[in-house]
This record gives sequence, structure tokens and C-alpha cells, in this order.
Amino acid sequence: DNRGLALASKNHREIVPVFIFDRDILTTLKVDYKRLGYLVRAVALLSSQIRLYCLQASTEEALREVFRVAKPTHLYTTVSYSWSGVERNREIRKLCREYGVEYVEVFDNFLAVPEAIPQRKVYTPFYTEWTKKVDLSETSPENFTVPQLPLPALKDLNLDYSDPYPFYPEDCEKRLSTFPFEKYEELRNYPAVDGSSRLSPCIRFGVLSLREIYKRAHLRSEQFIKELAWREFWYHIALNFPQSRDLEFQVKRRNIKWENRKEHIRAFFEARTGYPIVDAGIRQLVEEKWLHNRMRMIVGSFLTKVLLVDWRIGEKFFMEHLLDYDEVVNTGNWQWTASVGADPKPFRLFNPILQAQRYDPDCAYIKTYLPELSKVPCHMLHDPLSHRLPYHRPIVNYYERIKLAKEAYQQKG
Ligand SMILES: Cc1cc2nc3c(=O)[nH]c(=O)nc-3n(C[C@H](O)[C@H](O)[C@H](O)COP(=O)(O)OP(=O)(O)OC[C@H]3O[C@@H](n4cnc5c(N)ncnc54)[C@H](O)[C@@H]3O)c2cc1C
Repeated sequence: DNRGLALASKNHREIVPVFIFDRDILTTLKVDYKRLGYLVRAVALLSSQIRLYCLQASTEEALREVFRVAKPTHLYTTVSYSWSGVERNREIRKLCREYGVEYVEVFDNFLAVPEAIPQRKVYTPFYTEWTKKVDLSETSPENFTVPQLPLPALKDLNLDYSDPYPFYPEDCEKRLSTFPFEKYEELRNYPAVDGSSRLSPCIRFGVLSLREIYKRAHLRSEQFIKELAWREFWYHIALNFPQSRDLEFQVKRRNIKWENRKEHIRAFFEARTGYPIVDAGIRQLVEEKWLHNRMRMIVGSFLTKVLLVDWRIGEKFFMEHLLDYDEVVNTGNWQWTASVGADPKPFRLFNPILQAQRYDPDCAYIKTYLPELSKVPCHMLHDPLSHRLPYHRPIVNYYERIKLAKEAYQQKG
């Protein structure tokens, strides 16, 4: 189910499928090796289904090589809505013009066309509009041939990557067909339970068709469909408010005086805040390169509202680690968590003590990622301010800090 390939195969008998490992992305983004490992396996999976040429160069160099060797008449690609994707496609279009190649952009990767939805700043009214525009028509390519060309395949490249354990693109299909969507709403908030789909890398790298996911889920869990819509909401915001890439969506929150204390940032990155639930989250992120959504909110809120650290620092930290990193979704969610973004109400506080008691009641999550605390009674791990733990002392007092945060958020710049 790939609309670009389907259209190309309808219009042409011969197609040259190409995947570019963009050197500029690999180097400048300091791409984590697990993320690259996941991508390489996803490309290998695709290569087992169609002959795929793979180049490792800047997009421009790679395309010049493809144009020189294959002499195509047309180039088909997917419309991009991410900030860097839009810039990249603009460059590709320019290059096509230079070579006299017709550039064709095909809409895919979303359930609803972002431009078709009237501009909304808040999620719930967006969702109402979005449901009316969901388009589930699947596509399958017509027969085509791939010419034999002197271009490299995946096995010819020299990529340095590591095993993406515990996430593999080969597992996406099975996860989708066995995931109990009926239980999603009940279980999705408990990080120790395997209750969320864990499909985010499959979605991020396009391993599964969104339309297929939707069809499997929609009669079984509306809540799950709402999560898919959150992804599209952030793209809707990026499209309509492009300045939100770097600036707070809410103008009145653009002048918060972040403390950005180095020792706090370091303790957070190194999972030494003294709040076991927060530190367990950072350990999961750093070790597995994935983090449960509840934990993303808890650690994000702790960094911004308790330590008063600029959300951009957290956004970058997640960028360096997350397997499912998506610049638009990550930025939107960090702004949301820091209460500076779209959909700002209420002013959300994730008290790490109450969150731990509620969502990790038997400390199964904390003890998985902080095994050194496995012998400590759970009620003590929940509340490190009331109990002395054989562990780092809390770097700040949540209740004192939250007063400061409220003041900082109220101050006008
Ligand atoms: C601070 C912060 C940063 C985040 N950064 C990213 C990111 O870079 N990439 C990313 O894919 N998700 C991000 N999320 C959203 C969410 O945490 C993950 O999508 C989710 O945890 C992935 O796990 P899952 O597949 O089990 O999700 P499920 O709960 O099973 O949800 C199904 C799918 O819906 C989408 N989804 C769910 N929640 C959200 C959301 N809040 N926003 C957008 N899409 C959502 C994802 O594609 C997800 O795979 C972030 C959330 C926070 C709070």
C-alpha cells in the first residue's frame, strides 16, 4: 500500500526504486546507531520484496548519480509535511528541473490530507474535522519491471549501525495482528504493562500502512484512533503555524525565564534526579531507545516545570535517543508537555509522586529499570521526599519547585 509506487506503476512499465541513506542526515543529526539499525532492517525488508537500489550520499549527489545512470523521465516521491522534508523536496524539485525530469509528489503517510482540514488550534475540534476526512482507499502497484543498472544495493553499502533490540521492523505485522486493541484504553497508561501498541517505529519508518492499522483498530478502540489523530494534529499545527518549529506556539509563553542549570540537566540526562519514576524513564529511553507515553509526559514535565529547563533541551535529548523520533511530533509534544504549545489547557502538572503511585502501583516499572532498588519497599520508592532511600537524594523538592514554575509561567517577558 504505497500510493507513489502505485501511481508510478500505473503510468510506467519500468521503475527504478531508490532509497537514499542521506549522508547529511546521518552525520549532522548524530543519528543513533540503533535508529539506523532499525532503518537498515526496514530497507532490507523492502529489498526482499522489490529490487531496490540504495545509495549512501547527500540526496543531491545520489540523485545526480541516479539521473546519470537511469536517465528517468519522471521522479515520484511522497509529499512531505515535516520541516526538513519540505526543504529536501524543494531541493529535489530544483534538481529535477535542471535535468528535465518531471517531478511528481504523491500524498501518503497520513490518513487525512492536512490541507483539507480547516485550521484548528485545539485537538478536540481538530479530531471532529479529521474523522470526516479520513481516506482509507488502499493501493497496490501494477506489474512493473526494474531494469538492471550499475547502481548499488543495500548489501553494497558500508553503514555503521547496531541492533535495534527490542524493536524490529520484521515484527510489525505480527504485533499489529496480535495486539489486543480492545484492552488499549484500559491498559495504555501503565508503563509496566505491555498495553500500548508499540507500533510507533513501524509508523515512523512507514513499515506498516496507516490505512491497514486504522482498519484493524477502528471498531475495537476509538481511543487508539484518537492517538493516530494526535500524530496528524501535530502536522496540522506545523503546516498552519510553521514558526512553531522553534518558537513556542503560544505567544504569551515565549519569554519564560528558564533556569537551565547545568547540574540539573546533567542529573536528568544521567538518570540521577533522585525521583525513581523519573530516573527509570530516562533509563528506559537510553537503553531501549523507546519510552512509554506516560513516561514521556512525566519526564518531560519534570524537566520543564520542575527543573525549569527549556523544552528545546528536552526535545533535543529525545531526538538523540528515540527510535520513533519525528521532528514535528516530538516538538509538538514537548511544547504540549511544557504547556507552551497548542492545546494548552489545563496547565498540566505531572506530580512524580502521585504519578508513580497511580501508574506504577507495585513499582514493577521502577524496579525493572532501577534493579538496584528492587529490595526497597514500593511505598518508599513512590515518595522519595518522605523516605530516605539507598539512592540519590532528590535534587529538588517538587512542591517548592512547582511554586517557582507557576511564577515563571505567569511572568510577562
Ligand atoms: C515529550 C513527548 C515526546 C514525544 N515524541 C514523539 C516522537 O518523536 N515520535 C512519536 O512517534 N511519538 C512521540 N510522542 C508521542 C507518544 O509518546 C508516542 O507516539 C507513543 O508513546 C508511542 O508508543 P506506542 O506506539 O505504543 O503508542 P500507542 O499509544 O499505541 O499509540 C498508537 C500510535 O499513535 C501515535 N501517537 C500516540 N500518542 C501520540 C502523541 N501524543 N502524539 C502524536 N502521535 C501519537 C503514534 O504513532 C503511536 O504509535 C511523544 C510524546 C511526548 C509526551
